[in-house]
Amino acid sequence: MVYKLKMYIGGEWVEAESGETFSVISPVTGETLAQLPKGGREDVKKAVDTAVKVQEKVRRTPIKERIELAYKVTEIVQQDIDRYAVDLTMEHGKVLKEALIEVKDVTPNILWNAEDLKRIESPVLNAYSKPDMMYVIVREPLGTMAIITPWNFPWVLPAEFVVQSFLAGNSVVWKPASYTPISAVHLMECIDKAGIPPGFINMVTGPGDVVGRALVEHPMVDGICFTGETTTGEDITKRAGLKKIVLELGALGPIIIMNDANVEKAVEDIIYGCYTTGGQCCCANERVLVQQGIHDKLVKALVPKVKQMKLGDPLKDTTDMGPLNNEPVVQKMERHVEDSIKRGAKVLAGGARAKGFPTKLYYPPTVVDDVPTEALFNKIETFGPVAPIITFKTLDEAIQIANAPRYGLSMAIHTKNFRTAMEACTRLHAGQVCVNESAYYWDYNNPWGGFRKTGFGRIAGKWNFESFTDLKTLVLNIGRSEF
Ligand code: NDP
Repeated sequence: MVYKLKMYIGGEWVEAESGETFSVISPVTGETLAQLPKGGREDVKKAVDTAVKVQEKVRRTPIKERIELAYKVTEIVQQDIDRYAVDLTMEHGKVLKEALIEVKDVTPNILWNAEDLKRIESPVLNAYSKPDMMYVIVREPLGTMAIITPWNFPWVLPAEFVVQSFLAGNSVVWKPASYTPISAVHLMECIDKAGIPPGFINMVTGPGDVVGRALVEHPMVDGICFTGETTTGEDITKRAGLKKIVLELGALGPIIIMNDANVEKAVEDIIYGCYTTGGQCCCANERVLVQQGIHDKLVKALVPKVKQMKLGDPLKDTTDMGPLNNEPVVQKMERHVEDSIKRGAKVLAGGARAKGFPTKLYYPPTVVDDVPTEALFNKIETFGPVAPIITFKTLDEAIQIANAPRYGLSMAIHTKNFRTAMEACTRLHAGQVCVNESAYYWDYNNPWGGFRKTGFGRIAGKWNFESFTDLKTLVLNIGRSEF
């Protein structure tokens, strides 16, 4: 069955004004899964006009009612999790067990933020320079927010932004990724069924360079929360003008393995962080930095385990990795492997597209050793299933390699030495440093975001509300007030 899906504006499911559509092709089978409206500038205008019109209503909706709506969304998501997970696997390629975890994760994400919102506080200050004055600091919604999300986690990322920006009192126009919009429409259906009033949350589907750009440039959009590639983030900063922006961008997270690390645990974390979701995760271990003295032992333990991993049908329980999501991702993998071989690296596992599958997007878990620091693996996010091993001599050198590309989302170190761990924590430039963990790590309550080329702003936990609101100071002259 091919889904015929629509976008959602002003509480109605609608076609694009142009009547044009686009198709979603499964990376698993190559079949057409769905057709959706190919939105354009006029659809964005309609959605933003609608959202702006109701913004005051959203702001005046009591927090209690906003939270009850959010609870309802989570109840509705839970009623059909198995179908949603299968659809996610089919449009994304990630294995079903990961898809299930992702859809299940929607509920605690939203519930956590609902609790944060209940407890949000802002200060009352005594005046410093003048007597009889008081400052009451309040949080105000930004107004109308544009939320733009990528294809790699099409349930859990919108579940961190879309409902939360509404919870913070904003009206929302959401533009989901074009490779995985079926999951987005499912989430939007749950929001609709929960009884969200018309216009409070809208969704426009269509190409990023048209729909996304029109949203970013729209003068009545007050805030943007974007997750995606660094190059797209750069484009957004040029076009957005003075809007308040959160940018959650690409990364090049290293996992550093020191000579004294526990090899078994290091291997476990390398495999988890390099190959989960086919490595198509912002906080994947993009680089494996290994100290000289442990190199041979680590490689000997790692390679047989990677070779044992099963690539195949992502719906099967026994499969470890499904196909990658799209052709550009596979081509980037190929470019980076080829580049490293030219520079003297050796492929120890995988290293080329797998044959005999229904599509050309199946690429096996790959290990590349002796990767020099000049290689693309060490410069640009690969976003594929690879452990590129770079050897170093000292902690200083590891830190220099880790920080050099100027991305900074999640970085990790394995060591038994507390002082080494703390030195790495201090000197690695990243929003998160993990000790004896994979770089592939996040939780509901810690601030999420990056340094430098990974963007700015923080989300998750109560930090969502700092990003999706602004501070207003009420300056009260108590001395002059006659009431
Ligand atoms: P893209 O930047 O290609 O796309 C992200 C979203 O932006 C999509 O909805 C896309 O639409 C839209 N878009 C594309 N061009 C524009 C534009 N010019 N203006 C506005 N919107 C636009 O990223 P990917 O979807 O490929 O996602 C993968 C990237 O996301 C990786 O770099 C990954 O590291 C990063 N990411 C970062 C996270 C973080 O927390 N830091 C979390 C998850 C992913 P369309 O799909 O129609 O092209």
